[in-house]
Amino acid sequence: MTTKTNTATAEQHDSMFDAVLARLDVAAKIYGLSNEIANILRSPQKQVKVSLPIMMDNGKQEVFEGFRTIHSTILGPSKGGIRYATDVCDDEVKALSAWMTFKCAVANLPYGGAKGGIKCDPRKMSVGELERLTKAYTVAMADVFGVDKDIPAPDMGTSGREMAWLLDAFNKVHRGDFPGVVTGKPVGLGGSLGRDAATGRGVMVATLAALSKMKLDPKKVTAAVQGFGNVGSHAARLLSEQGITVCAIGDHTATFWNEKGIDIQSALRYVKENGGILKGFTGAVEIKNTELLTANVDVLVPAALQNVITEEIAHSIKAKLIVEGANGPTTPEADAILQEKKIIVVPDILANGGGVTVSYFEWVQNKYGYYWTEEEVNKKHDASMNLAFESVWNNGQQYKTTMRIGAYITAMKKVEFGIKAKGVY
Ligand code: NAD
Repeated sequence: MTTKTNTATAEQHDSMFDAVLARLDVAAKIYGLSNEIANILRSPQKQVKVSLPIMMDNGKQEVFEGFRTIHSTILGPSKGGIRYATDVCDDEVKALSAWMTFKCAVANLPYGGAKGGIKCDPRKMSVGELERLTKAYTVAMADVFGVDKDIPAPDMGTSGREMAWLLDAFNKVHRGDFPGVVTGKPVGLGGSLGRDAATGRGVMVATLAALSKMKLDPKKVTAAVQGFGNVGSHAARLLSEQGITVCAIGDHTATFWNEKGIDIQSALRYVKENGGILKGFTGAVEIKNTELLTANVDVLVPAALQNVITEEIAHSIKAKLIVEGANGPTTPEADAILQEKKIIVVPDILANGGGVTVSYFEWVQNKYGYYWTEEEVNKKHDASMNLAFESVWNNGQQYKTTMRIGAYITAMKKVEFGIKAKGVY
């Protein structure tokens, strides 16, 4: 990949949406996108904010804020997850919704982009409180969501359990059965086999594709994975199944290092038996959270939070390849340093697109009423990821830029076509 000037400038981007715009502007300039079309992409189509009074287990009411932003429906109904976290806000949801537009376009899916969230701490809430909150949110968003309108899915802090509650509330409001209104559902309710592991699987496929371009043998490669939730745990497992030595793993409770490789199956068993956290795992030495990001490994997979690879961290990163499992783990300022250091970054809008790809397969199966085997799902997924990787790589090469900007250009071309073909009135 080339060096210099193709990443965003060194201004600070405190807002996540500003970080999206910074990349969008760079890509638009390199590709030559008209200002008129860039302005459409700069402005989310619809933003909905709701207030959700919930009866807590202690008999007192609490009011939560819920968000849904539809960034674009140019290429199809909008698609995007729902996040439960304490820092959910307008800006974050807006940024994540724009990334969904680009991610779906990169993955060749007939979808636009959206994102939702509730500002809450799911770890401090009971199952009953979470169910009431999810159903209240769904009722408030009942006119926003729809099988051919806007289709939510899980994200940080949510899983198949919340999607089942969402489906139930939506079905009750609309008096019918609409499994295609949400993806990431449990398999017993119309979910797709392979969906749970899909984002991690996509990270694995993208890693192998990048290693092949770099002419590196996966069996001689080491990796560190930050985050051991849905994306991180499946990514770590699948990377190790491909012969990659995973030397570091970590979650919000603890981070571990083993030069010879961590036994991921035993970490998975430990997490399952210990309430979903790594704290107390004894299969490796405990290290500091930030040490994972700068560990002496070939591949770094940030699969937890946004903005963890800052300018300062970027200077100390030793990995040759970063595969972004999380959304927005790298700041625009850090991008410039990684580019200078010739570290290849497989960007989030490509690397974690496996989840939405299998969400699309789930939606197709729901519409079809006919369900595929896990092998079929995985085969279609891997082919789709490899195709997306190649087009991003090729655009990166053609425009002499990074894979991140190459991915934005890949998406931009499709959305630009959609806008021009549909016309503006
Ligand atoms: P999750 O809630 O299942 O897991 C999040 C993980 O991050 C947990 O292991 C948690 O302990 C860890 N974590 C939280 N704070 C941390 C910290 N300070 N340091 C280290 N680890 C920390 O969430 P997820 O679904 O795995 O999502 C992770 C990221 O991947 C998010 O950015 C999300 O938007 C993105 N993503 C998820 C999907 C999906 O299908 N789930 C798809 C695309 C992108």
